[in-house]
Amino acid sequence: MTASPSPSLEATNAGSVVTTPAPPPTPTPLLTATPLSAGASADAPPCTPAPQLPCSPSTNDAAGATATTTPPPTFTPPPPPPPVEGEHLLLPRPVAAGGATWTDKSYPYGSTRGGTLRPHTGVEFGVPAGTPVLAVAPGAVVVAGDDSQIAYGPQTNFYGNLVIVEMSGLAGGSLYALYGHLSEIAVTAGQAVAVGDTLGLSGESGVADGPHLHFELRFGENSYGATRNPLLWLKPLKGTGVVAGRVLGPDGGRLNEAPVALLRVDGPAPYTATTSYAAGEPNPDDLLDETFVLDDVEPGYYQAVVDSGRRRYSTELWVFPDRVNWVEITLSPAAGSAAP
Ligand SMILES: [Zn+2]
Repeated sequence: MTASPSPSLEATNAGSVVTTPAPPPTPTPLLTATPLSAGASADAPPCTPAPQLPCSPSTNDAAGATATTTPPPTFTPPPPPPPVEGEHLLLPRPVAAGGATWTDKSYPYGSTRGGTLRPHTGVEFGVPAGTPVLAVAPGAVVVAGDDSQIAYGPQTNFYGNLVIVEMSGLAGGSLYALYGHLSEIAVTAGQAVAVGDTLGLSGESGVADGPHLHFELRFGENSYGATRNPLLWLKPLKGTGVVAGRVLGPDGGRLNEAPVALLRVDGPAPYTATTSYAAGEPNPDDLLDETFVLDDVEPGYYQAVVDSGRRRYSTELWVFPDRVNWVEITLSPAAGSAAP
């Protein structure tokens, strides 16, 4: 869909949001790593090598130092750039702490799971059947039941037992949260709910291939074609950040289903990868206009890599916690390097 100027959402206090007009998105400028000299630490200021003398990183280390190997470079993050315009990481998780509060990385928003499924319009929480499903914001229940008669998705019997809540506190646009594949429903249509209220229990009704919670957000209208990526609305898990961006072809066009990996440069990190959105139902955020989002990313210095099989394209970025970190990877012939 086409991005157009639209409201951005800002938190004013816990559980409520207001809308203010905002201009179109401005990608965050990329930053480069600043390797420090060997042995520098957070306690010692970075040292500047002099023309004649080797750099002494700290007085403690310099005295009696005998090491002759060269330690790997260390990296000091620059000050975080301003928040990405339109950032709205406001919502708590729909499952309680202590459970599987993280999203399933194998079937993210916009994914076809390698062409085997229709493009995903939500994210999955891999909770066992019977797990309480919690409202992520106050609002009014607009749907509570099954979809055997009314298709809330592409067909009937898709979400199974589901609850849809229209969140309150938004001006200028409605935001709906959909909770699918439930085993039990604990609310009724028209009911007001508070954040954290139990809406039902997770299950595997509808087209679920096993117990999990399907969590979906719809912006503007309560329709299957109006979803947005929940990873741009859920608060990041403690100590982690969100990476959003675009994969663009040589002509500047958006590339669907391109593999994106994040490789950490300044230290070890879990392997993090996704694919850019498939064509079809997945929609970008109205302000960010992204083609992929990764969550649960540990802070650090990364290469964002798209490997076409013949060439490898990459852009470097710093990832900061509790925010959206923006990156663009363009598959221009000049920028690529031959894959090994
Ligand atoms: Zn799902």
